[in-house]
Amino acid sequence: MTYPRLIIDTKKIKHNTETLVNLAAKNGIEVAGVTKVFCANKDITKAIIDGGVKYLADSRIENIIKLKEFDLPKILLRLPMLSQADEVVEYADISLNSEVKVLEAISKSAIKQGKIHGVILMVDLGDLREGIYCGEEIFSTIDKIKDLKGIELLGIGTNLTCYGGVIPDENNIGRLVNIGKEIERRYGIKLQIISGGNSSSVYLLGSKALNGVNNLRLGESLVCGTETAYGKRIDNTYNDAFILEAEIIEAKTKPSVPTGKIGMDAFGNTPSYVDRGIRERAICAVGKQDLDDTSIIPLDEKIIILGASSDHLIVDVTDSETNYQTGDIIKFKLKYGSILKTMTSAYVDKKII
Ligand SMILES: *Cc1c(COP(=O)(O)O)cnc(C)c1O
Repeated sequence: MTYPRLIIDTKKIKHNTETLVNLAAKNGIEVAGVTKVFCANKDITKAIIDGGVKYLADSRIENIIKLKEFDLPKILLRLPMLSQADEVVEYADISLNSEVKVLEAISKSAIKQGKIHGVILMVDLGDLREGIYCGEEIFSTIDKIKDLKGIELLGIGTNLTCYGGVIPDENNIGRLVNIGKEIERRYGIKLQIISGGNSSSVYLLGSKALNGVNNLRLGESLVCGTETAYGKRIDNTYNDAFILEAEIIEAKTKPSVPTGKIGMDAFGNTPSYVDRGIRERAICAVGKQDLDDTSIIPLDEKIIILGASSDHLIVDVTDSETNYQTGDIIKFKLKYGSILKTMTSAYVDKKII
């Protein structure tokens, strides 16, 4: 056995996906399953396909390429790099876009490759990450791209609660839906996709705020069982599909406050400490290169996370009923940030069950 090791329960991920796909279907919404948090791992991708997603979506073209063997339409989530237009057309069926210059390049590549590439135009409803912010620019962009060969405007979309923390609601989602209607009216076309955001829109499922939306791009809610507007658990989902196992390399009794003059820690921050007196501490062989120590939760609830450096995770095991020794394994549930990092780290063994 190699540690650190990530145990991934694909049955739980499939179950979560079914729950969300069914919930979304009641609103007439199809789910694009977002694979980036698990680096487009094939077994996990199979689980979300079995769970009923209608599209596969990822922010990186490298991951989209990994998904080649799956038949579902693939959406590139991050705005395409101008330098990657050829790969985007070759491997993705659809991409999210906001730049005319890039769409012109995609059009050229599509003509060259004899393909029609689907485009979802991104609208910024105030979160201030990607998308066209102002209404008139949306129409001027469509004016410029409507005659480009090799691309088809499939619809519009938005992304919220990513940079600005703006929560989707009836007002901003309503604006998106109205912009869609106005496009259909002005250009006499039918938009196939109105994509109303990510896992932060999940809390609106079942309400009329999502009326007119027919697509959501979901990642975190499928793997973690939480919606991301308020961080609430979603009924009938698991939050422990990913369990990290780390091995203890030192278990010793020490004070809880360092001795000596305090300078900077390994990452250039000035640390602060809670004085709990003399405590039993354990060091696990895993660190910030593999995880985010603020997004891991010990299964043993009596363990306190003290901190981490690149390769060491330090925990306080004093209150636990277990007498942890060097060589023992400590298990953690992971939140989004640590699923992302453990999946990305080449030093973490992955075991699919
Ligand atoms: C990552 C991403 C998503 C998925 O977000 P979750 O919060 O994981 O559901 C959706 N859309 C875009 C554009 C993204 O980059």
